[in-house]
Amino acid sequence: MARADFQTLPGTRDLLEPESGRVRRLVARFATEAELAGFGQIVPPMFEDVGVFTRLGEASDVVSKELYSFEDKGGRAIALRPEFTASVCRAFAEQRPVVPWKTWYSGPNFRYDKPQKGRYRQFDQVGAEVIGSQDPDVDVELISLAWRFYQRLGLPDVVLLLNSLGDFAQRPAYLAALRTHFEANAADLSEQSQATMAVNPLRVLDSKRRQDGPVVAEAPLMLDYLSDDAAAAFDRVQRGLKAVGVPYELAPRLVRGLDYYTRTTFEFVSSGLDAAQTAVGGGGRYDGLIEALGGPPEPGVGFALGVDRTLLACDAAGVFGPADTSVDVWVVATTEGTEALELVEELRAAGIRADRSYDGRSMKAQMKASNRSGAAIALIVGEDEAAAGTVSVRTLRGEGRQTPVERRQVIEKVRSLL
Ligand code: AMP
Repeated sequence: MARADFQTLPGTRDLLEPESGRVRRLVARFATEAELAGFGQIVPPMFEDVGVFTRLGEASDVVSKELYSFEDKGGRAIALRPEFTASVCRAFAEQRPVVPWKTWYSGPNFRYDKPQKGRYRQFDQVGAEVIGSQDPDVDVELISLAWRFYQRLGLPDVVLLLNSLGDFAQRPAYLAALRTHFEANAADLSEQSQATMAVNPLRVLDSKRRQDGPVVAEAPLMLDYLSDDAAAAFDRVQRGLKAVGVPYELAPRLVRGLDYYTRTTFEFVSSGLDAAQTAVGGGGRYDGLIEALGGPPEPGVGFALGVDRTLLACDAAGVFGPADTSVDVWVVATTEGTEALELVEELRAAGIRADRSYDGRSMKAQMKASNRSGAAIALIVGEDEAAAGTVSVRTLRGEGRQTPVERRQVIEKVRSLL
């Protein structure tokens, strides 16, 4: 095939059926789960003032390296959203909805990431956030919402990793302990982690580089630095998860990619995915983020699930395959008249999925197309049928049976066969 003048940019893809249909159905499933739990949808803009995202913390890669930022024609500093949480918090600070505000979302995010399988520069997420409640039951209900979603997709091997990052008040003491540990063992750390250590030692815990493994494994744990309040909340989250039957593994070194997390932090991993990208989703509390965006000091908690990676995990598990999108009826007509046009329109108006061939194809070519289409029924109009005011109804599955039917009884007949 000749190469087109343009191709999609690195890290971006065209989604065609049936993959695009899977994404649509996955989002619909998520919407159903979220609505069952009392969440309403938010559709924020895809680009915002760059400040909405830079306030997430300059030390995270998402902000410092991966942001698609540019100046628009009006001289505004703008960025394509790399994630939803910041936009949701900005929307809360701007709109001030009644708390607790429970909202869900779906759509694309943009990160100048290194493209590979399961890692794209434009990728879809679904997610949910609750703003305005400190109650650990909210954390449990959010985690349970995501868990139920995975269960209903039929994903058997998703594991919930759970940690608490405590409150900001305890963070300096913990960071100091971490820094001391990493500095003492700097020689054994990768060059990248030695650089990260100075900016944000928490990020070193997140390192997937093998060389860092032993030093990270010996690092002090945030769980040993929790305030009484944070420890009680974490205990309540764990009791809640047990009470509602959501299994979890404690992951005391789990920090995740953005700096704004406090208290409950979690990630969903799937063993069906390649080692570098086992995370299908994650989230946590961000009790200081809204204030950082100039809003009231309301706490927040939420999660985002990667749509593309969830689908890859479904592929690996052999679940949630593509739906049958073939039409029910294929119209075959070889007359000069408008029979084909009228029939497909009548069928569609009656809610029956119908399609046809174009460009005056021969009967043979049209019958071939009808067989290829996956339709259950072919409606055939040749010169004989047109003259007699009938349509031949042919079943395409099993033994193909063909019967002439009065033109005005076609819809009824088709309905009886579907
Ligand atoms: P994050 O906002 O980084 O916590 O990501 C939440 C989820 O979004 C991850 O667990 C992934 O499933 C997905 N995700 C993040 N970055 C990408 C990417 N570049 N390509 C595809 N999926 C991604």
